[in-house]
Amino acid sequence: MIIGIDDTDSRSGMCTTYLCAVLVDELEQGGYGTLSIPRLVRLNPCIPFKTRGNGAVSFAIRIAAGREREVKELVKARVQELAELHDEETNPGVVFIDEAAVHAISKGVSGEEKGAMQKLKNFYESAVRDVLSIEAAYSLSSELNIDCFGLKNKRGLIGALAAASFLVVQQADPSRYDFTYELMVYREQERWGTPRVIDEASVWHADEATYPSTWDTVDWANKKLVLAPHSPCPVLFGIRGCRVDALYHAYKLIRAEPAEREMLFITNQGTDVHLIAGVQGRLQDYHSYVLDGSVDSMPRTIEGGHVVFALSLSDWASDRIECIAYEPTKGFRDHIRKLRKGDEVTVYGSFKRGTINLEKIAVRQLNVEVRKNPRCEHCGKRMESAGRGQGYRCKRCKTYRADKEVVIVARELEEGLYEVPPVARRHIAKPLIRMCMDGEIDHLHPSR
Ligand code: ATP
Repeated sequence: MIIGIDDTDSRSGMCTTYLCAVLVDELEQGGYGTLSIPRLVRLNPCIPFKTRGNGAVSFAIRIAAGREREVKELVKARVQELAELHDEETNPGVVFIDEAAVHAISKGVSGEEKGAMQKLKNFYESAVRDVLSIEAAYSLSSELNIDCFGLKNKRGLIGALAAASFLVVQQADPSRYDFTYELMVYREQERWGTPRVIDEASVWHADEATYPSTWDTVDWANKKLVLAPHSPCPVLFGIRGCRVDALYHAYKLIRAEPAEREMLFITNQGTDVHLIAGVQGRLQDYHSYVLDGSVDSMPRTIEGGHVVFALSLSDWASDRIECIAYEPTKGFRDHIRKLRKGDEVTVYGSFKRGTINLEKIAVRQLNVEVRKNPRCEHCGKRMESAGRGQGYRCKRCKTYRADKEVVIVARELEEGLYEVPPVARRHIAKPLIRMCMDGEIDHLHPSR
């Protein structure tokens, strides 16, 4: 059976990954069956209903004969008990895809069954990139005989079905989606809501010993730890990376308050799966894009320290949008400030009300040409315009030139791909260090 869960936490407590860890441990220790490594999927990062990182979880359990009902009851009971139901914005959802349905979806040979896998894949991808309705989750669940359990308005069914879909697709085709790992470490209950005790020096040491197989544990440029949340949730810290042994090695090196438990997740974090490239048609709010264009205004710093510039899009002759690097992106803004009109760039980020919130930017071609009034060949001074479309003249020397002069200027910015630093990175965004390790593209400028 595959079980997906979402929307159990609030800003004042709980975390759906913790609920998942409690269930996985309890099911394993109670001999209910054999469990998979759980999945933590990050869904559309622009969704207004999210508490923090729009995460949802799933796991697979090969249930011991005759215990299916018990497993479902236990999951429902834990959700009811641990979810922050008093919070208006907490609307839990759970899906159960039983063995028969998983088999039909995964191993099916008929067109209809293959279609089922495709529908789950589409649902997961839409949950990451689009905005879905609860009805869409109900409708697919009833079509594929997926058992649902929800509380209050049950919005969590969207994330629960998306997380379960990710697991079904990944089990059928492990290479289908890029993935990484996160080792989550949880606090003892009596400490929830109190300041976290983590020895800073040991974290820097753990990072030094395991980077770049682990990343986003610390932010070097901003001298900050980024492995621990600041909310009163049960998470002590999480170590992200691409190698399980490196995650555990880092964990061993970190000195901190005693942990209640830890749980390893396979996750879509750090993969950029939310980005829509090659979009046709109009840009939609709450979607994240990769867009080519040319810088259409000099970048300017506005109130609050945010840096904005206009971009004219390559694929839409008439469209001009704004791009913004918010103040929390810190040093990333220095690269943005060095852009000039005419630079060819590719921007990566989420779109809302005509503005892209920058996560990355590729400077594809710098504009090194500046057009200036020509110099007079006699006196060397810059000539004046002789009137619209009538060239340039030097009144004193009576010289004339038809066109402006093209001057080649030096640029402080280098071409290549730039990213926001770890302090400002979305969970789902791919750090450039991962691209460096994959040997993906030249001219990368990782924030570290
Ligand atoms: P945390 O990261 O701490 O677990 P969260 O940020 O995941 O919290 P949730 O409490 O899970 O926030 O709330 C997100 C809600 O948005 C859930 O109900 C989920 O089902 C729903 N949701 C997720 N993705 C989409 C989507 N693409 N369209 C519509 N609703 C979505």
